[in-house]
Amino acid sequence: MAKDTDILVVGGGVIGMATAFELAKSGAKVTVIDKGEPGFGCSYGNAGWLTPCFSMPLPMPGMLLKSIKWMTNPESPLYIQPRPSWLLVSWLTRFLFAMNQKQMVRSVTALTEISKISLDLYSKLSAETGHDIRFEQKGLLMAANTREGFDYAKTEMNLVAEHGVAGRSMNAEETRALEPALTGELVGGVYFPSEAHAEPLEVVRALTAGAVKHGAKILSGHELIDCQVSDQGGAKRITGVRTTKGVITADQYVLATGSWSTGVGRALGLNIPIMGGKGYAFITKPLDPNPKVPMMLVEKKVAVTPRNGTLRLAGTLELVNNDYSITPRRIDSIVKGARAFMNVPQDFQYTELWRGLRPCTPDGVPIIGAPKKYANLHVVTGHQMLGLQSGSGTGKLAADLVLGRKPIVDPKPFRADRF
Ligand SMILES: Cc1cc2nc3c(=O)[nH]c(=O)nc-3n(C[C@H](O)[C@H](O)[C@H](O)COP(=O)(O)OP(=O)(O)OC[C@H]3O[C@@H](n4cnc5c(N)ncnc54)[C@H](O)[C@@H]3O)c2cc1C
Repeated sequence: MAKDTDILVVGGGVIGMATAFELAKSGAKVTVIDKGEPGFGCSYGNAGWLTPCFSMPLPMPGMLLKSIKWMTNPESPLYIQPRPSWLLVSWLTRFLFAMNQKQMVRSVTALTEISKISLDLYSKLSAETGHDIRFEQKGLLMAANTREGFDYAKTEMNLVAEHGVAGRSMNAEETRALEPALTGELVGGVYFPSEAHAEPLEVVRALTAGAVKHGAKILSGHELIDCQVSDQGGAKRITGVRTTKGVITADQYVLATGSWSTGVGRALGLNIPIMGGKGYAFITKPLDPNPKVPMMLVEKKVAVTPRNGTLRLAGTLELVNNDYSITPRRIDSIVKGARAFMNVPQDFQYTELWRGLRPCTPDGVPIIGAPKKYANLHVVTGHQMLGLQSGSGTGKLAADLVLGRKPIVDPKPFRADRF
């Protein structure tokens, strides 16, 4: 029987759309479904950074003591609320095992590589699709107000330097000269001149425009409920997906459902261990003085992104399972953190507050590959804090794997069956 489409991509965030764009560009007949409006999941209001310098997985060696301390402090940049949950316990166990030097080096190598490829692709995306993503290459500054924070920034700089990401360390005076909006205490900074940023929703829209230009069909308001599977021995085949708007059939299926992936995987008998890393972002009026370059305020892990006429402040990571509630104490901690570095008024006002769940795997590396259980399924998710910066490269790699081409990077670190 004729299928509705060659390839069905489930999930229209940056990852699903980047995959759809690459597949459609290669001549495949592609359909994307999203339960809501594409781009309005975690890809909507993130900091917009396209920064290979931040290619660190969430679990890093030496984090054990820090994580335990953070667990007891609801205002800490990373918060894990202790609660009885099998997903949380098994996720944390794997997370602890991933905190070793060997795993970290492997992860940083893979994440830097895919982020560098993505940065190059993003620099051409507006021209390629005719949709402006507001790409700006102003670099990224890590500003530190303690000796410990400055040392941490320099360690990161040295780590990514081994992968061809150049940064330079500066004393407090040099850092303030580069960014006069840093009016608070300062010990030093590390500046990565080649990093870029863009407007995250516009990136998804550009990828969508590109996919549509190459014939892809985008269906909003189509929620995947479950899959029809044929099992004739060997690997199973998905024969169709049941959605809230009827059944859709395809030859190949791609799951790019971000922080919802654990539940979607369960419907297919797959173990996709994803916890949501809840973070918040504010859009606010410019400060006085207003930052000129995107900044990471190291000790507070607050991301500052200047926009055209406004400013975005983003931060915090709280491990949750599909919990979108807003915790006032955690949003206040972002403002307090920013105030330690910049002139944030006491009567701080925002025009938009957004929260998103970063799809976090326990080892901090995305899943990009085909589970052995199925002959016609690829899973593309788990991009934690760097789904935007590694999105377009992920789309290329995923398309290579789906179409059976030589992969643009070594797919081994991303394999789907590793959990
Ligand atoms: C505060 C904050 C700041 C961040 N800053 C940055 C940054 O500066 N740079 C960076 O690289 N990353 C950043 N990130 C991380 C980045 O936003 C994510 O890694 C990325 O958006 C994940 O993209 P995704 O496509 O996997 O998920 P999503 O964008 O969440 O997309 C998943 C899609 O799947 C759809 N879906 C789910 N279930 C179903 C279903 N059953 N049927 C149909 N559709 C379904 C959803 O509706 C959604 O649209 C930040 C995140 C946060 C929270």
